[in-house]
This record gives sequence, structure tokens and C-alpha cells, in this order.
Amino acid sequence: MNPLTDAPEKRYIPLSLLRFRTLLVGVFDQGGQVLESNAGFQMLCTEEESANDWNCSEYLINPSWDQLHLSTSSDDTDAPIYQGILTLRFPEENYQSVTAMIFRQEGLYYLVAEYNVEELGLLNTSVTALNDELMRMQRELVRTNHKLEEQRELFRMASITDVLTGLYNRRFFIESLTEEMERSDRYGKSLSLILCDVDHFKQVNDTYGHDQGDQVLRAFSQLINESLRSFDIAARFGGEEFILLLPETTIEQAVMTAERLRKQFKQQNMTTPPTTITASFGVAEYTKGETEDEIIKRADLALYQAKKTGRNRVEKATD
Ligand code: GH3
Ligand code: MG
Ligand code: MG
Repeated sequence: MNPLTDAPEKRYIPLSLLRFRTLLVGVFDQGGQVLESNAGFQMLCTEEESANDWNCSEYLINPSWDQLHLSTSSDDTDAPIYQGILTLRFPEENYQSVTAMIFRQEGLYYLVAEYNVEELGLLNTSVTALNDELMRMQRELVRTNHKLEEQRELFRMASITDVLTGLYNRRFFIESLTEEMERSDRYGKSLSLILCDVDHFKQVNDTYGHDQGDQVLRAFSQLINESLRSFDIAARFGGEEFILLLPETTIEQAVMTAERLRKQFKQQNMTTPPTTITASFGVAEYTKGETEDEIIKRADLALYQAKKTGRNRVEKATD
């Protein structure tokens, strides 16, 4: 109800107080029924209900309506029959406390109350604290997300690289090969593969020990890494076997790359172990329509050929 327009037949509350929103003013009869209320009182009600439908006996819990009603003190005097915090309970366990004074005169009850300013202050403090906490949690979340992202990247790298040499692993190589073959098909660019294998590596292990063998594998990997272009892909294919994917490269260019690697590896001054170690190479160029297995098989046959014809050699695959 609108306290200004829907005026009850008899007006109890001065017009000037009807508009007040910070001050609650209400008048009840002996049964607790609201006879008149101002705008501040109306704020206790939900949008659908009107304070005029109210009966205080349903809402007052501390003090209860009965406690007020039965109070005999100060009747028909200027002193309030109640003064202090008044707590109301609304549906769904909603509570509202106001600081109130209740007077009783000629069988009617007059309530004057204000929203508990102190409580609002406390509420404000809690909201500020909650806000701070929320911001702290948001910052924490950003940090955690960042760490997660780093960890994800670490896991991703770990899943595609070889631990000993730091080169890509076989699985990643095959995935890249598939992509590059598709690209080659689409754009008609050449694509070549080099498969290489350290010569007599078993002897290196047997003579100098497994750790020295590992050192040779790392040195060879580093050489490969340094001599390739940024878009080439080098992987450890097996124990002492490496594979290189060279996009936009013809077989002649790939043979030159393999030759360069072969020479550099042979010349590399190995101090650990103190010996000359060589490698053999098989080179193949992708022909449209062949599968990953087929081109690798052709490079492997060329490598086998290089081993068979004396090692420390580069051999071209046949179509
Ligand atoms: P070939 O010239 O015919 O390739 O002879 P090879 O001795 O290199 O070939 P073989 O296949 O007989 O031996 C390869 C050796 O590589 C055997 C294996 O113990 C060794 N090997 C494989 N993986 C590793 C590794 O991670 N570290 C070390 N140190 N040795 C390895
Ligand atoms: Mg070998
Ligand atoms: Mg081998």
C-alpha cells in the first residue's frame, strides 16, 4: 500500500513522518494488527505484501507480541512500554533487527524505530572484508592458473621430447610427419627425411661404458640441433638412431645436409670418449600418396645400404 495515497480512514501518523524511509513508524491495535505504517515500515515488507496485511504477533520474536501485549508498565504515559532492539522474523528464516520504542496509548500501540545503524556499519565492515578476501582469492586464482599453465606446458614438453637428448620423441615426429605430408600435398612443396644411426655404437658402449655412450648420443643430438633450420624437426627415433624432417627440401638438398652432418660428426673432437665416432645416413624424399611407414621404410633401406657399403656414408633412397 502506498502510505500517502491509500490513506486509512483515520490517520494516526503525522503526514511529515509518512515519507520517512530511515525511520519506521507503525500503529497497531490490541491484536497486533497494523492500522497504519510509514514508508520506512513498508520497507520491511516484500513487494507483494503490504504492511496493512500484517499482524505483529506473527513477526515479532524478541520481544514477542505477547510479551508486549501483557506488559503493564507505563500504560498511557509518555514513557515507552518497550525500548531497545526489536527482532522480527520473516519467512525463509530472514531476520531483521531495528532499534525501537513502543508506546501504548488508549489501547493502541505506537512503534517508532530505526534500522540498526551500528549493525549496518558492521555489515559494511564485513562486506569490505569479504571484498578484500575475494580480491585476494582472485589474485591467488590468477597465480594458480599461471602455475597450472606452466605445468601444462612442462607436461606437454615432457610428452613430446626425449629425456636423454632433448630432441623430440618418435611419437611427436610421426605426428609432425603426417602434418608435413599433408602440407606438401596441398602446396606441392618437396619434403625430405634423413634417418641416421651411429656406427658401431655397441663397441663404444663396450669399450668406454654406457655413460660415455650416452655422452656421444647427446653430442650428436646437439650437433643435429645446431645445424637445422627452425622449422626442421629432429627426433630420437630409437637407441642410437635419429630422424630428421626437412620441409621444403629436395632429396639433393637433404643429401647435402646429411653430408654436412656426417662430416661434422666425424670431425667432432670427442674427448669423452677419446675416439672418432661416425654415423651412417639414409635419405628419402616424400612422394605424393605414400604413407608415413612407406617413406620411413625407404629411408631405412637407404640407411641399411650405407651400413652395408662401409658405414660413415650417406645413401639416397630409391623410389
Ligand atoms: P651399426 O653400426 O650396425 O649400427 O652397429 P651398432 O653397434 O651401432 O648397432 P647395434 O644395433 O648392434 O647396437 C646398438 C647399441 O646401442 C646397443 C645398445 O645397447 C645401445 N644403446 C641403445 N640405446 C642406448 C642409450 O640410450 N645409451 C647408450 N649408452 N647406449 C644405447
Ligand atoms: Mg648403430
Ligand atoms: Mg641402430
